[in-house]
Amino acid sequence: MSSDKKVRVRIAPSPTGPLHIGTARTALFNWLFAKKHKGEFILRIEDTDSERSDKKFEEDIEEGLRWLGLNWDEFYRQSERGAVYEEYLAKLLDSEKAYYCFCSKDELEERRQAMLAQGLAPKYSGRCRAIPAEEARQKAGGGEPYVIRLKVPDTKIEFNDLIRGKIEFDGSLMGDMIIARENGEPLYNFTVAVDDALSEITHIIRGDDHISNTPRQIFIIQALDFEIPEYAHLPMILNPNKSKMSKRSDNVSLESYIKSGYLKGAVLNFLAFMGWHPTDDREIMNIEELIKEFSLKRVQKGGAVFSDEKLDWFNNNHIRTTDTKELLELAKDFVPKSWKLNEAMIESIKGRINRLDELEETLRFYFELPNYEGALLKWQEMNFGEVELNLNKIKDVLDNMDENLKRDKVQKAIMEIINNGSRGEYLWPLRVALSGQKNSPGPFEILEALGKKESVKRVDLALEKLDIPETY
Ligand code: GLU
Repeated sequence: MSSDKKVRVRIAPSPTGPLHIGTARTALFNWLFAKKHKGEFILRIEDTDSERSDKKFEEDIEEGLRWLGLNWDEFYRQSERGAVYEEYLAKLLDSEKAYYCFCSKDELEERRQAMLAQGLAPKYSGRCRAIPAEEARQKAGGGEPYVIRLKVPDTKIEFNDLIRGKIEFDGSLMGDMIIARENGEPLYNFTVAVDDALSEITHIIRGDDHISNTPRQIFIIQALDFEIPEYAHLPMILNPNKSKMSKRSDNVSLESYIKSGYLKGAVLNFLAFMGWHPTDDREIMNIEELIKEFSLKRVQKGGAVFSDEKLDWFNNNHIRTTDTKELLELAKDFVPKSWKLNEAMIESIKGRINRLDELEETLRFYFELPNYEGALLKWQEMNFGEVELNLNKIKDVLDNMDENLKRDKVQKAIMEIINNGSRGEYLWPLRVALSGQKNSPGPFEILEALGKKESVKRVDLALEKLDIPETY
């Protein structure tokens, strides 16, 4: 490829299942590469397998890519390109770079077994190559079942994978491959090669499960006199136990992650680190930073381990740094409709949750004070009398404040009355009074989130709980 050519990359998912996390990763790497080089990103739906393809999966894939913000500049659907494939199949037949093959399945199987019996790697014998082109055309036209085979040269080909380096392949081991089935229906490697060439894809960045397709596609590209693109095969995604991740497994669909409350920025960040990392030791990166730093040179060869814990960690960090207003909007989908969330509530849980689906549990105390035991109000060795005294002092402070409590202001006022006293002896009872829980956000954050009226009500309730005789 000449270096002045505009970068054009593509993602070519088959709509045979919902958008898989691995496909999302491939899409992201392509998109980042396109953005980095001011190139174009193309979406091509590979739906020629009409039995396994489903429109609903196509929609899911498109929706998922849109959710991630991986917008495409051009769109193609292979099922609409039949005429194009026909044209290029005809070209290969006319130039006698491909030929009709009439060998029956039984014959092929018989020869395959014979080769195996001789200890040879099975490949097509090339028998139908010898049929004169005109005769073959007439036979095919007359209704005799056929497939179309590419004449694969007995040569070695080599390509330089941008991630894995030099890869060599021996055409003589392959035999003439089928590029179209009976009735001329074009096959996968053929449609990919034609589409990549016609849409002037400069770099093919895809999972390394496609490595064995690459030489096949190169033979087709050569036969059609198209330019050979650059290739970069991404490392496969492994489960934490290092087994290969299955495409068919439901819990790795992007949608399941969206439903669990992973933020777009966190998913992108996590996906980017599945097989890539920047030059420094940064991990939390936003999309602009990823575009700036992305390079295929820094993609690793070895498998990339997928870990939910790591994804949670990314998400926790992204939740923490997301604008509170934005987070509040996102949060609404994860809590009961009747809850009136405010920014202070959201602010108070930032960094405390890994996923938005924990919000309902984490925020519930704001809307339903849990029924807790009075004893929980005691900090360490305190007795009820001391708790009561301290809560009353705090109540006096609150009584003198505006309804809209501001965290900094209320903190300053309460810290003044604590003065040199034990913070725990004031702030623990206060926090428990406000949250009814052992663990919760800090008391000042809760005060701002609840407002004065509700806060005072909760402190009063705590004081009532203390209204029991001291047991020791
Ligand atoms: N359609 C293929 C898949 O879903 C991708 C083909 C390619 O990237 O060349 O895995």
